[in-house]
Amino acid sequence: MNLIFLGAPGAGKGTQAEYISEELNIPTISTGNMLRAAVKAGTDYGLKAKEAMDSGALVSDDIVIGILKDRILEDDCKNGFILDGFPRTVVQAQALDNMGVTIDKVVEINVADEKIQQRLSGRRVCESCGNSYHIDFKPTKVDGVCDACGGKTVIRKDDEPATVLSRLATYHEVTAPLKDYYQAQGKLVTVDGQEEIADTKKLTLEAVKA
Ligand code: AMP
Repeated sequence: MNLIFLGAPGAGKGTQAEYISEELNIPTISTGNMLRAAVKAGTDYGLKAKEAMDSGALVSDDIVIGILKDRILEDDCKNGFILDGFPRTVVQAQALDNMGVTIDKVVEINVADEKIQQRLSGRRVCESCGNSYHIDFKPTKVDGVCDACGGKTVIRKDDEPATVLSRLATYHEVTAPLKDYYQAQGKLVTVDGQEEIADTKKLTLEAVKA
């Protein structure tokens, strides 16, 4: 099964995608994580992407489409995959169609902007492995230390309040139109993000299996 998880930054689509990934035993492909790894490794496209990412803008379609194209050809994607954070523009969605990829469902995780601003201020990520936490909703066992690898957890530069506002504006302007794009293909399902992650998980699994 090939799925897309759509939603504003901080709506929890990454957490839900990881959960469904375990349930269905298919990989999650997060272009955000791949780009952050490229920035850290100092690759060519990492250097090009960094400025856009730090300011809350989107990385150019060419770069993102290129890395996605290579990734879905890998062996572990044979039985399906979940795209988390891709496509983010209509051009990217069209590129996916042109690659001949059939998308079964697009799951939108819907959360109001005010709630997102509140949530992102508490988000922490591991600077070594990229695992994501939240000081209230998903704390690390030891303060500031990643449960998975023991790395240091920090506030992502793009989670700073001014950057969050700009990321939300970008989402509404260029990514939200994808809802209409996939609605027209009869693939869009919307899940309202709940207070409790476990409740959203239940709704998401129902939406995927429906
Ligand atoms: P994320 O972790 O998905 O929120 O992504 C972090 C940042 O990476 C975004 O704010 C963008 O700058 C960049 N990014 C990730 N995925 C894409 C994409 N599909 N298109 C353009 N930029 C992206």
